Amino acid sequence: MHYPEQIRLQFPLLVRNPELAWLDNAATTQKPAQVIDAIRMLYESDNANINRGLYDIAVRATAGYESVRKVVAEFIGAGEGNIVYTSGTTGGVNMVARCYLQPKLKAGSEVLISAMEHHANLIPWQIACKNSGASLRVIPIDEDGVLNMGEFRNMLSANTAMVAVTHVSNTLGTVNPVEEIIELAHSVGARVLVDAAQSIAHYPIDVSEMNADFLAFSAHKMFGPTGIGVLYGKEEVLSEMEPPNYGGDMIRTVSYQDCTLADIPRRLEAGTPHVAGVFGLGEAIGFIQHLDRTAVRESLHDLTTYATEQLLGVNGVTLIGRAPSKSSILSFTAPGVHPHDMATVLGTRQIAVRAGHHCTQPLMNHFGISGTTRASISIYNTRDEIDRLVSGVRDAINFFS
Ligand code: PMP
Repeated sequence: MHYPEQIRLQFPLLVRNPELAWLDNAATTQKPAQVIDAIRMLYESDNANINRGLYDIAVRATAGYESVRKVVAEFIGAGEGNIVYTSGTTGGVNMVARCYLQPKLKAGSEVLISAMEHHANLIPWQIACKNSGASLRVIPIDEDGVLNMGEFRNMLSANTAMVAVTHVSNTLGTVNPVEEIIELAHSVGARVLVDAAQSIAHYPIDVSEMNADFLAFSAHKMFGPTGIGVLYGKEEVLSEMEPPNYGGDMIRTVSYQDCTLADIPRRLEAGTPHVAGVFGLGEAIGFIQHLDRTAVRESLHDLTTYATEQLLGVNGVTLIGRAPSKSSILSFTAPGVHPHDMATVLGTRQIAVRAGHHCTQPLMNHFGISGTTRASISIYNTRDEIDRLVSGVRDAINFFS
């Protein structure tokens, strides 16, 4: 069984704000006490720069930092050497676009993305294409927000250098068939990056089964701290990547005229990293692993189904994103109510939702709207909160009409 009320008790911010219905989980999740404690304990007990000091606390900080790499690797079915710490999903995608792909692109090369990508998985490719004369092509979606796989097959060719797709859309909630996408892309020799920002908290991910070349995610969307994330890469692609930064901690030897670089992944992590963030990330993974993930997923699915039915029962509400395979994200529009007004009204009732384009402006243009209101559900949300959301939506529509 999964009891959101009990899980909620592990989140200090939610305990301090008993009236708060946190339904903005696609933007960021709240943090359980054990994550906050791990960060505090690092600064209180083991704060030292890593990889350098020879005294006890530096050795402990370094060991802790590296042990989290192992935790992350096991969490996603990878080897430790394939885990690069980044600042987040955005950092990971930019690194791949700029340091791996761009030097390989030439006029005629193609990069494929889907029509539902977050700007973080769109603009870096757009810039890499502009800088190299390659083309960025967009895999279309249907009116429910489902990727057109037939069209994707037609778009693939020997010119396809990279396919970059999100596992779960942050706006539509669509769960994309990433394994099929990867297999098809590999059949023409293309590499694939999976944006797992929205899937990592709720779906089991095994990169070796999935066979992704790259996978990027952020800790803060999986109950961990902000400013830290992970880029997974296969050994052959990481070792072909140019370091995003040069400096301390990524070299073997240095003279005034030359340097030899450390092995991956350290070669890709110059400078003092976000040590506390890494400790928090490790604890966030521990927190997730202690949940009954199957029960949580089933319960989230039930709550999302309930929320969908209730919202659609409100006169005039339209769901944007109705894929058969959907995560716990509900984007909607309401007649006569601007999404910002909707979110403001809900905010006065302590219901936190997101309004706007959700960093998917081209997708909004595709649907001919300026934005949506988005409620994104996580493990601590309850039916009662959904009922409050729906009654707030109903009242906002009545008020504005
Ligand atoms: N991709 C998706 C699908 C996202 O939802 C987000 C965050 N909203 C990002 C990328 C960017 O994540 P971050 O801001 O943590 O780098």
